[in-house]
Order: sequence, then structure tokens, then C-alpha cells
Amino acid sequence: MIVTRFAPSPTGYLHIGGLRTALFSYLWARKNGGKFLLRIEDTDESRNSEAATQAIIEAFAWVGLEHDGDITYQSQRKEVYAQYLQQLLDEGKAYYCYLSKEELAALREQQMAAKERPRYDGRYRDFDGEVPRDIDPVIRIKAPLSGTMVIDDGIKGEVVFQAEDILDDFIIARADGTPTYNFVVAIDDALMGVTEVIRGDDHLSNTPKQMVVYEALGFDVPKFYHVPMIHNQSGKKLSKRDGATDVMAYKTMGYLPEALLNFLVRLGWSHGDQEIFSFDEMCDLFDPKDINKSASIYNTEKLDWLNAHYIKNSSNTELATLLEPYGITLVSHDKKEILLDVLKERAKTLEEMAAMVNEIISAPKTYDAKAVKKAFKGDAKAILEDFTMKLQVRDDMHLPSDYHEAMEELVNEKGIGFGKIGQPLRVALLGKLSGPGLDTVMAVIGKDESIRRISNAVTGIEI
Ligand code: GLU
Repeated sequence: MIVTRFAPSPTGYLHIGGLRTALFSYLWARKNGGKFLLRIEDTDESRNSEAATQAIIEAFAWVGLEHDGDITYQSQRKEVYAQYLQQLLDEGKAYYCYLSKEELAALREQQMAAKERPRYDGRYRDFDGEVPRDIDPVIRIKAPLSGTMVIDDGIKGEVVFQAEDILDDFIIARADGTPTYNFVVAIDDALMGVTEVIRGDDHLSNTPKQMVVYEALGFDVPKFYHVPMIHNQSGKKLSKRDGATDVMAYKTMGYLPEALLNFLVRLGWSHGDQEIFSFDEMCDLFDPKDINKSASIYNTEKLDWLNAHYIKNSSNTELATLLEPYGITLVSHDKKEILLDVLKERAKTLEEMAAMVNEIISAPKTYDAKAVKKAFKGDAKAILEDFTMKLQVRDDMHLPSDYHEAMEELVNEKGIGFGKIGQPLRVALLGKLSGPGLDTVMAVIGKDESIRRISNAVTGIEI
């Protein structure tokens, strides 16, 4: 069975890069009828917070990624790690090292001066002399000092490391007894039965170390997939400066989780030239062998385009509910369908859609000066007054077409173009010259409110 995992360190919010590797891991497990596990790597008490763990769980819930089984917390597994440290010490595969900080610094300096790679020189590897009493020792693992280590990476192919270039007997437990990252990751992945590790390629250099641990403990080495990073438009690693990187910020800005996941799955993975993937389709089609070898480029327009697609394809009832956090209450609005049918063709985000709803529902507080100048020329006010009269005498005004007819009748009678009524009417109703069709706007706000806004404009606008 294929078992994948996501193993974030709870040092802050969940980054979209993290969500992307989580998604890849999730999809690969689902596609194979396997398991997707979540492990919180919270061993560094000074940097980790419960709030960050909650933020990760909240982001998972928002996008709908469900992990199997209970969450594993590294902070609760100290005894497991202690047991394996002891096992390696007992088997002579790890040893206490009493090198002081000063000695280590001196060693580094010497190596640098000799233009050598700074590394631990193994002086306590097979030490049987008297150990210094005033030093709390670290524990180092015996790593191969020569030869090669090969990772058969599912994305990068064979990656060959020369042991002498990258390894030395690295520390697996600090002087205070706490185990180090590479040690616990290998143990957890092995004990959790993880068969495939999909993670960012910023971890590639850790993998040989983790392989040393697997081998020392006799564990099976999982298959690795090191996913290239996400870059910004200028080819640099995506950072906070490039806009939102916190998954939950996308929610606030009005992106739908389906759109974000669709966007993320395409960041570095492709299936022909298909762009739109439903969640089920992703589960069916995803294969990490199709992950690109080079970095992917973050593109906001693409995200907006996908979001617009998913908004357009949402039901009006769903949209009304999604707009509630933006202070928009449409659920029982009698013209909800008319309004949302139009706006969902126009909005790129829910936030934008909420602003559009507000622009229509609330009467304009001010009139855009340029729009007034352009629209209120000549007999604009008289035309608006005539239109008001037309509205007044009509009953049963409900649909956009009812208002369209009224406008049509007016332009025909007066022998004028639509723009003559359209422009001033638009300014009167919305305060500016952009926005959706006026017939829709009037149908949504109703006849009385339309008349009120027109009369406010006729009396309030100075020309
Ligand atoms: N905890 C590590 C991180 O957040 C990930 C470890 C891994 O995926 O192996 O970067």
C-alpha cells in the first residue's frame, strides 16, 4: 500500500508551497487507494506554537484535504527517539562526542584555512580514552566516510552523492539530549509506514543523512520525490513579498478552495495541456512522475482566471453563503438569482463580488466627477425625468427585461440613442459609468429604489 505524508513544522501559517506538496502527497495516496498521514514536526519548542498547528489544521479543513488516522506529533514521541538513540549506541553505530564548541570552531577554522570542507573529524568515533567530564556530549551517528549514496528520485532521477563531500558523523542528539531533525524524520517515516516521501527539493541535501539513519536502524528506505520550488515572476523563490503566501489569506481574499487546489496542482505538474481539474479528476490523473523537473512560476492571473471559472460554476445558493463573511446577506433576497447570475460572470474573487453587490445594493454616496461631466450633458436630466415617469406608470416591474422595455420605449419615442439615457441613468443608479447592465441593476433594487436614486441624482447633481 502507498503511504504518503505531510510533515510541516508549526512555525507559522501554512504556506501555499507546503499546501502544494501536501496536495501532491494526498493525491498520490488517494489515487492508489493508500493513506495520507499528517505529522506535526513540533520538536523545536522555541520556534513552534500551538497556534501554528491549529492554522495548519484549519487550512487543511478549508481546502478539504483529509488525512488518514490521527495526527502524529513529534513532541509526543520523545521516548521512541530515545529508545532508538540507545539502540544505535548499544550497537556501536552511534557514539558520544565530547568536542567542545571552542574545539569545533578551531577545527573549522583550520579546515577552512586548508581549503577543506568544514566537517567533524571523527575524533570520538572510536575513542577509548578518558572522556572530558565538564562537557555534555552530543551523539553522532557513524556515517559512511567514502563511497557514494544514490537516491533514485522519482522526479530528479538518480541523484548521486559522494559521501566524503556531504557526510560526516553528524549529530543525531544535541547536548541537551534532544534528537535532531534528520534523525527523527527518518524514524517517524519508517515507523509510520511511509512508502513515498514527496517534499520540496530544499530537503534534497537532508536525504543522504536520513538514508544513513534508515540504514543504521535497518529500516526500508522510502521512495523520494523532491519537488522543485515555486518561483515568482522574476525567477526567485516565492516569498512573502510576492503577495499572499498564507493559505488562509487566499480565503480572506475570496478565492475558492477548488480554485486554489486547481492552481496548485498545476504549479509544477501537468497532464497534457489541461488546465481545469475537478478534485476527483486530480485524484484520478495525478502521478508524481509528471511533475516538472524545473521550478514552476507563480502567476496571479492564472489563479484569478481559475477562480473566476469556479465562481461562475458555483450555484447561487453556494455563492450567497460564501458572500456572508463579507457582510453580504443575500440568502433571502428575492432578486438573488438575477443579481448573482450576472455578477458571477464578472467577478474574479468573492471579495470583488461582494464589492460589486454593495455597489448595486447601496445607493451611491457620491457621484464620480468625470462620469458626471461625461453623462450629464444637454438634456440628460430631462431624459431621466421622463424615464422616471415611464417607471411610475408601469406595474409588475420584476425582470431585467421589464426595465429594458421601459428604456427601449423611451429611446424610441424620443428618437435618441441608448447612450443618452444609459449614461446618466448609470451615474444616477451607481455613481459611476461602469458596472453590470442597468436593466439588471434596476430589477435587483426594484422600481421604487430606482426612482429614488434617479430623483436624488436629478436634484443632487450640479451641472
Ligand atoms: N518539517 C519539514 C518542513 O516543514 C518537512 C520535513 C519533510 O517533509 O521531510 O520543512
